[in-house]
Amino acid sequence: MNKMTIAEFQKGLREKKFSAAETVKSLYQKIRAEDPQIGAFLNLTPETALAQAQRVDAILARSEELPALAGVPLAIKDNILIEGQTATSASKILEHYTASYDATIIRKLKEQEAIFLGKTNMDEFALGTSTENSAFQITHNPRDPERVPGGSSGGSAATVAAGFALGAFGSDTGGSVRQPASFCGVVGLKPTYGAVSRYGLMAMTSSLDQIGPLAQTVQDAALLFDAIKGHDPKDSTSASENYEGLLSPDFAKIKKLKIGIPQEYLMTGTAPEVLQTMEEVRKQLQGMGLEFTPVSLPHTKYAVSAYYIIVPAELSANLARFDGIRYEGVFPPEYLPDNLLDVYLETRGKGFGLEAKRRIVLGTFVLSSGYHDAYYKKAQQVRALIVQDFENAFERADVILAPVAPHPAFKIGEKIDDPLSLYLEDVFTLPVNLAGLPGISIPARAKSELPIGFQLIGRRFREADILGLGQLYEKEIPPPSL
Ligand code: GLN
Repeated sequence: MNKMTIAEFQKGLREKKFSAAETVKSLYQKIRAEDPQIGAFLNLTPETALAQAQRVDAILARSEELPALAGVPLAIKDNILIEGQTATSASKILEHYTASYDATIIRKLKEQEAIFLGKTNMDEFALGTSTENSAFQITHNPRDPERVPGGSSGGSAATVAAGFALGAFGSDTGGSVRQPASFCGVVGLKPTYGAVSRYGLMAMTSSLDQIGPLAQTVQDAALLFDAIKGHDPKDSTSASENYEGLLSPDFAKIKKLKIGIPQEYLMTGTAPEVLQTMEEVRKQLQGMGLEFTPVSLPHTKYAVSAYYIIVPAELSANLARFDGIRYEGVFPPEYLPDNLLDVYLETRGKGFGLEAKRRIVLGTFVLSSGYHDAYYKKAQQVRALIVQDFENAFERADVILAPVAPHPAFKIGEKIDDPLSLYLEDVFTLPVNLAGLPGISIPARAKSELPIGFQLIGRRFREADILGLGQLYEKEIPPPSL
């Protein structure tokens, strides 16, 4: 089966060119043949997927109206709960855990009769930039199997890039949807903080985490976002907003958006091919008639340091719940240690990988009495300055154009022993999370050896602006011939 977009699938299904069950079967065939070389999935659920597909075909046979995402085969990051399915967050500590309820986004997708093919690989608890921190397997970039797919939602990005799924979901705390999208040559959206319910997403850093879609086109990403957004009484940080023009953008209006390019984002240390691609995209957008204005985000240089204090702090609290008692974990249920302390020590000692331990130690330290003000409080103050930077920039510009990552996909093994160099890869994505803004990574339609995405950042709850501009770009700029 050739790669199909969600929009093409919706049309073909309704015109009865193929059935949902046929599509699901042929995708599993492809996954079985090719995923052993890619390693995108941690778990496949063909029986439930096929049953879901047959239900969709039956609804269609009765000539009843189908919900928008009916029959669309999706892949779900393993930190998002689907009732009755394993949810490991790619951690040994949750190897035997099965989810007892659906995340809100899963409930919404089920209401639309969407199909879940399986759960995807990731960095353990979403801590990482390359998916190499998974306790179970390495995921290879479908565009070049010697390279990482990015992370932490590397498995989800790989499923879309390889054509295993028509769309996927990941989570983005500091870039984990946008950066793998850029590395794999697909679209990835990080919604505004609060746009999507986090209920049923395993918490990494509660004040930054958002679930976002990955897809082949911006239009598909808009369809997926539309299905999951909205207020949820089960997540008090979620908001109800009216989104206008999300699915059918008014391109005349979009053309009037003013684009800001932050000087600080054209920094040394960024690969020449990334800078070249950014320049090419700027010219393309200018050619489409868009206007540019310079903006400044002066506190960018402190963003990585602040993020890598706030994340470990919140994370050390969030991971405290994995104590060997409350979740089926590393040890089989019949394991009977002598005392409670041993349960904690054994479970956490054996269950967490290196990066999780590193951040738990760091986070506990920056919150400890005597250090709290010097580190955690300071980082929160920097966060406020970064929020202010963006507010000032959005007085001049409607949308900000930025790189996604300073480098294209790197080789497997190249950076994993140097956490600091991996942390620095997040410099263009994590400020967006610190400020709670929406950001999208879109494959640049420019010649380069490896895929390179560009990022559009919008005002809070203005996903329609960045999705609209992205759709206009895809409409007007043809993909480069390879
Ligand atoms: N690379 C970042 C980190 O390791 C972002 C991870 C994420 O967005 N989940 O924290």
